[in-house]
Amino acid sequence: MATILKGAPVAAALNRRTQALCEELNTRGIVPTLAVVRVGEREDDLSYERGVVKRCESLGVAVQKFVLDAQATQEELLAVIDKINRDAALHGCLLFRPLPPQMDDRQVRAALAPEKDVDGVTDLSLAGVFTNAPVGFPPCTAQACAEILDFYGIDLSGKRVTVVGRSLVVGKPAAMLLDKRNATVTMCNSRTRDLPNLCREADVVVVAMGKMGAIGGDCLRPGQVVVDVGIHVDADGKLRGDVCFDQAEPVVEAITPVPGGVGAVTTSVLVSHVVQAASISN
Ligand code: NAP
Repeated sequence: MATILKGAPVAAALNRRTQALCEELNTRGIVPTLAVVRVGEREDDLSYERGVVKRCESLGVAVQKFVLDAQATQEELLAVIDKINRDAALHGCLLFRPLPPQMDDRQVRAALAPEKDVDGVTDLSLAGVFTNAPVGFPPCTAQACAEILDFYGIDLSGKRVTVVGRSLVVGKPAAMLLDKRNATVTMCNSRTRDLPNLCREADVVVVAMGKMGAIGGDCLRPGQVVVDVGIHVDADGKLRGDVCFDQAEPVVEAITPVPGGVGAVTTSVLVSHVVQAASISN
């Protein structure tokens, strides 16, 4: 039976640090504030937004919402981002993506001031993840994976880590953050040959491939730590990961659950970035 690496205690530890920094800022009259920018009313976005607002409120972080109609033009969205960039009272910006098809994702991302980019969407923030330069913040989900491994004392130095997925939101930045912890990282994509073998060879497997239950018993062996980033709703309405938990749990040493694993840490990372951004700019 594997140790279950729950996200809640990781989030609680992060929240305690965030709250302490937030209280220190409050004593100086600063209220860390997150701008939430949403185009349209996608249910996924609304659900994540509710979680973010709740977490912000519980930690003393204010939220200002900027909601545009799904038919809004790119110019309208860029005007909102410009306003946020110029407003010193707004310390971070969460921009929901994917954007509607009339908008150019790259142009919109590039418009956001890197110091307010609390979700690691600008090229400069991503460059910071690669170079360690103190600019912007890493994407929250990728950092959540690293926070979980740190919290549970999983030393990565010299270990083999296989990251399944190479998106800019999760796989690539996660690979970089684990490389910084001196792991030897193999990053896989949809053309990777013999994925099961590459997973089995690893000491730690981070799975962010967006395919429900795709990593099964054939990819895993005893002694491994598995971080499952995937989130899917199965035919019974239950949340599932990219890893087949029922096959993995009896075999591996430790595994993050879905739900209650990486997803439980992501919003805490986001709010910690907002408070850090407020601290840096004051
Ligand atoms: P994505 O953009 O769809 O990327 C999936 C990655 O997996 C791609 O790089 C793809 O390779 C790779 N891949 C697909 N099939 C593969 C295969 N057979 N072998 C090896 N690699 C394969 O997804 P994402 O945005 O990174 O998200 C990944 C998962 O995490 C999704 O389930 C998403 O819902 C979840 N997620 C969770 C959170 C959270 O807070 N827990 C946050 C964000 C996302 P190519 O590049 O070659 O296409």
